Amino acid sequence: MPLGNCLKCGTVFSRTNNPLCPQCAQKEEADFQAAVRWLRDNPGRNVTTLSKATNIEEADILRWIRQKRLSMKEVSESVKCNSCGKPITTGTLCDRCKLRMSQEVNEELKTLKSQIEKENMAQRRGMHYRPDERRKEIKP
Ligand SMILES: [Zn+2]
Ligand SMILES: [Zn+2]
Repeated sequence: MPLGNCLKCGTVFSRTNNPLCPQCAQKEEADFQAAVRWLRDNPGRNVTTLSKATNIEEADILRWIRQKRLSMKEVSESVKCNSCGKPITTGTLCDRCKLRMSQEVNEELKTLKSQIEKENMAQRRGMHYRPDERRKEIKP
C-alpha cells in the first residue's frame, strides 16, 4: 500500500482511499455524526452556524457537502457550483448546471446512436450490394 501524509495532521500512514490517517478519520467520523445530529435538531442552518455550534472546521463541513454526505437547507456562499459559481446546498453543481450537463450527455448519446445506426445501415447496404456476394448466391 502506498504511503501518504494525512490531510489533517500530516502523519505518514499507508494510504487507502481515505486521505486521513486512522486517528483523524475516526475523529472526522465522530464530527460528522455530531454535525448530522446538530442539523437534525437545527434544520435550515448554514455552514457557519453549524461550524460554530459544533466546533467543526468549516473546511470539513464543506468537504462533506462536496462529497454529498451532508446537505444544507440554506444555500451557502462558501459552497458554489463548479460550473457557474452559483451558491448551492450540496454536491458540486447547481440544479441548472446538472440539468444542462445531463442534457448535453443525452445529446451526445443521441449523436452517437445515430452515428452507429448510420454505420450499421451502411454496413447492411454494403453487404446487400456487394457484387461478389451476389454472384455467389446466384451460383448453383
Ligand atoms: Zn491524521
Ligand atoms: Zn451552476
